[in-house]
Amino acid sequence: MPIDFAATKALFDLPEGVIYLDGNSLGPMVKTAPARMTQALHEWQDLLIRGWNKAGWMAQPAQIGDRIAKLIGAPAGTVVLGDTLSIKVYQALASALEMNPKRRVILSDTGNFPSDLYMAEGLCRTLGGQYRLKTVAPEEVMSAIDDSVAVTLITEVDYRTGRRHDMTDITKRAHEMGALTVWDLAHSAGAIPVNLTAAKADFAVGCTYKYLNSGPGGPAFIYVAPRHAEVACPALSGWLGHESPFDFDLGYRPGRGIERMRVGTPPVLQIAALDAALDVWEGVDLAEVHRQSLRLQDQFIKGLETRAPMLQLNTPRSHLMRGSQVSYRHPEGYAIMQAIIAEGVIGDFRAPDNLRFGFTPLYIDEDDVARAVSVIGKIMEYGSWDKPEFKQRSRVT
Ligand SMILES: *Cc1c(COP(=O)(O)O)cnc(C)c1O
Repeated sequence: MPIDFAATKALFDLPEGVIYLDGNSLGPMVKTAPARMTQALHEWQDLLIRGWNKAGWMAQPAQIGDRIAKLIGAPAGTVVLGDTLSIKVYQALASALEMNPKRRVILSDTGNFPSDLYMAEGLCRTLGGQYRLKTVAPEEVMSAIDDSVAVTLITEVDYRTGRRHDMTDITKRAHEMGALTVWDLAHSAGAIPVNLTAAKADFAVGCTYKYLNSGPGGPAFIYVAPRHAEVACPALSGWLGHESPFDFDLGYRPGRGIERMRVGTPPVLQIAALDAALDVWEGVDLAEVHRQSLRLQDQFIKGLETRAPMLQLNTPRSHLMRGSQVSYRHPEGYAIMQAIIAEGVIGDFRAPDNLRFGFTPLYIDEDDVARAVSVIGKIMEYGSWDKPEFKQRSRVT
């Protein structure tokens, strides 16, 4: 059955008059989130410590992980929630390096999100400097996978340009060369169809507060392929990843399968918001969501080509190489974006000169795109971004 996008839009609580093109950074709230969070608050209030058992809090990271698994082509029991994405990147990388002990190189690309690269650098330092992070241009990843590479660390969709890597091809090449793969799905999960099983990915990580709408600070997730689940050794060996945390053993024994990738106490209130947000995806086909997103992106690109030709498209034109966002470059990008936001069209800015716009069809439609084009067109035509108030940099851009 085709998706009724008007019906999915009605599930979101968006402020009147706002066109929200930033779901790629922080997804909006679903209408059921407050009630679900209030329920979790009442569980805390009434059950106190008993909530861990009676309200099932302790089982939620794996249970809700299974709901995410369905969206990324992973079988049940392979995904668990917890921590933030940066931490999960570190954890997956450390495990992968340990599984490929003769190799010393982590391969990533210059389009990767800095936190992923920083975590890799930090891990290399911790491991005593024999390890090295190598970054190449996104187009050069395939050819850079040689027999020195222990693990590839690639974010499938570039946070800045929206350029999409071919997960299947890169994973295949990595395996042929004896490397393992860590895929970052921050801009994939809930945005484009992902099939970790078909792609034969080894590890994957992602966040839930972008396209999965869990709210600011929502937990990250980690996937380990079933073939590695009993082998991978968590470097962040916290008590809740222990085989039997409540034995309070002095020594660490990894838990069964994906449970070992848990670290510490799960964020119960935030998981409640995520659980509510995941209801939206019941019966929703991600291939169709992505097709509709591409239609909206094309409408936007075409509109701005006439209305704002001074903005330079920084996203590939090929549908095969696109995720769910479109970026433009302009030297005054920061001020332009502030002027756009002041008109109720919310995107964001990424240094040095990128304006980002996300197209999430579950709550963005053709009318929204037409209005956004018109707002941006006017701002560019009249140069109304050129005001001191739009040039004041805030802490978060
Ligand atoms: C958003 C994002 C992050 C953010 O990591 P947090 O630890 O959740 O703050 C990391 N990596 C990528 C690729 C991202 O897009």
